[in-house]
Amino acid sequence: MSSLSKNKEEVTIEEIISKAREYIEDEEQIHTIEKAYLFAREKHEGQFRKSGEAYIYHPMNVALILISVYADYETISAGLLHDVLEDCDCTMEEMEEAFGTSIAKLVQGVSKLSKINFSTENEYLIDYYKKIIVGMSEDVRVIIIKLADRLHNMRTLWAIPPERQKVKAREALEILAPIAHHLGIHKIKSELEDLSLRYLKPDVFYDIAEKLNKTKLERDKTVYDMQTEVTDLLNEHHIPHEIKGRAKSIYSIYNKLDKGKKFNDIYDLLALRILVNTEQECYLALGLIHSKFRPLPKRFKDYVAMPKPNMYQSLHTTVFGINGYLFEIQIRTYDMDEVAENGIASHWAYKENGGSKVGANLQSTTEQKLQFFKSIIDLSHEKMSNEDFVNTVKEEVLNNNIYCYTPKGDVIELPKGATPLDFAYHIHTKVGETTVGAIVNNNIVPLNYELHNNDIVKINTNKNSTPSKEWIHMVKSTATRNKIKSFFTKNDREIYIERGKYALEKELRKKKYSISEFMSDENIKKICEAIKVEDLDELYLSLGNGKATVNGVIHVIDKNEETVKPKNVKISSKSIDADIVVSGIDKVKVNLANCCNPVYGDSIIGYITKGNGITVHRMNCHNLEMLEDRTLEVKWNTNINKRYLTCLLIYTNDLENHMLELIQTVSLMNVSVDSIKTVSDDKTMVFELSCYVTGLEQLNKLMNSIMKNTYIEKVEREFR
Ligand code: MN
Repeated sequence: MSSLSKNKEEVTIEEIISKAREYIEDEEQIHTIEKAYLFAREKHEGQFRKSGEAYIYHPMNVALILISVYADYETISAGLLHDVLEDCDCTMEEMEEAFGTSIAKLVQGVSKLSKINFSTENEYLIDYYKKIIVGMSEDVRVIIIKLADRLHNMRTLWAIPPERQKVKAREALEILAPIAHHLGIHKIKSELEDLSLRYLKPDVFYDIAEKLNKTKLERDKTVYDMQTEVTDLLNEHHIPHEIKGRAKSIYSIYNKLDKGKKFNDIYDLLALRILVNTEQECYLALGLIHSKFRPLPKRFKDYVAMPKPNMYQSLHTTVFGINGYLFEIQIRTYDMDEVAENGIASHWAYKENGGSKVGANLQSTTEQKLQFFKSIIDLSHEKMSNEDFVNTVKEEVLNNNIYCYTPKGDVIELPKGATPLDFAYHIHTKVGETTVGAIVNNNIVPLNYELHNNDIVKINTNKNSTPSKEWIHMVKSTATRNKIKSFFTKNDREIYIERGKYALEKELRKKKYSISEFMSDENIKKICEAIKVEDLDELYLSLGNGKATVNGVIHVIDKNEETVKPKNVKISSKSIDADIVVSGIDKVKVNLANCCNPVYGDSIIGYITKGNGITVHRMNCHNLEMLEDRTLEVKWNTNINKRYLTCLLIYTNDLENHMLELIQTVSLMNVSVDSIKTVSDDKTMVFELSCYVTGLEQLNKLMNSIMKNTYIEKVEREFR
């Protein structure tokens, strides 16, 4: 190891304290930072990093990074202590005793983030995302410490084996840099990206670095000349300002090259940043520059009037500058610059009474100001499958999103490929559900129109309108899709409740009960207890979906009422067909209905046909609605060993033909296929699969294993 890199690692506590003093005035707070350092030094005594130096230099560097974004003293202290719970023999109690709950909790939060349980890469990611999301919604400072921790680890990544380097670099680039971006902490984001690129694509990284180096002299001179011209211009008009030439990060150049641009064409290689005092001066400066240097059309962006969702504000323009060079110019106030560099971290409320209030203030600022946070909070509250969770995180939290505007100029951040429906649901679920049309940049567009950056979107609604099932295929975001789906499951639920209520009241009328007497509060309570449901709606629901029977419910109140029909005949355990037990009737012909194809284990009900014995339906078969009063209770004979023909509808999310794969999946489950055919509509491919199963258990397993294929949208049993 060269002595140079060693020196760089080995910071001193004096350096940390003096940098912290630049903005922390309270001596007690400074003292806590010192105490945290001494505590951590003692705990890490004798430990060394892979890079060779004493372990304590890692948390010390993390503290320095935190200070560079003006963290409060609790965060800095927790940064110094962040590996103590994890790697040393120190308990939470000890930590609380020494530093109080607030700091101890931060340290604990960071430790939780590093303890990730996983067996497969996918589970690892799910666990990682979940912890980040939960951590962020609890105390965003935990995530900022984690970012600083990872940034320092990336700086010393050379010390670990190349294989691990790539894994860590990918994680930093794909998960942590986007989070830093959303929090607006540009400093950390940009360094994480450059370091990741260096390990992921070293050849590209060094190639760009070398090209930049080669042209450096010429570029430096041009930037300097342009800077002088602009300064003269602004001075002439008495606008106090500061100009910084700014280096584009290697990663941002790589990104543009990757999109097919040539190195020489990347016009914002030359860049200036102008800092002024007031918002008004931003526009004045812009006007002056445009009057002298011709602007490139369509490159002007006003993020002052319409800030980015991560609070970034600035004017951007590209002009033909001196010597024919194109210059990308950013104009903003000093305050805006601070937010642009440090993002949410520029909102540390360190000047307001210290203590735990700092964390709470930052948390509430973050929640109020960052749209991204709303998605995060939704995510931590919503119950969704792991797969949906990961998709949502990837689409809405991590990946390159597009920014669209409401007619009032509010920015809505959406995943790439989003449609007006995503936009509408993003504003509010109610807006989404009542959408009837969309206007984008003054043109009427279809609801599945793909939105682009900077589109202005107006949603037309009608309060009587409801979603259509097709919408499920017309949206990009998983969260929107789930909202639409839940509208329909909610609706199905309502239908079942209606149906259950209707069936019960009909039976009561038939049996000459007074409905209001029968349904007294006391009776309802008794019934709910007996049927084991929460409330009346749940009771109707279980009647409607067949989990409970009308006669069973009546029997709870009127014990004289037989729960089985017909009356006064004993239940026989055998029927002729043997796989179905028909209450009380010995020899009767039993058929399984071919509209709903019941299988062993389904809730079933018998229907007395005219002259053809009894047909057995699934309890929730819609054909039963028409079948008046000819139903009777039937049960499965548990001693039977038979296979049942049943029918599934399998919806895929693409137009590929997956028939062979499906047959394979089915055969692997030891289920025999009777037939499979496609019944596609134009958006998706739907397969109708008839097969023989031993019962509901096997059928459910089969449906689950089909669902595991990524191309499957849903699987349902067919009702004809
Ligand atoms: Mn660490």
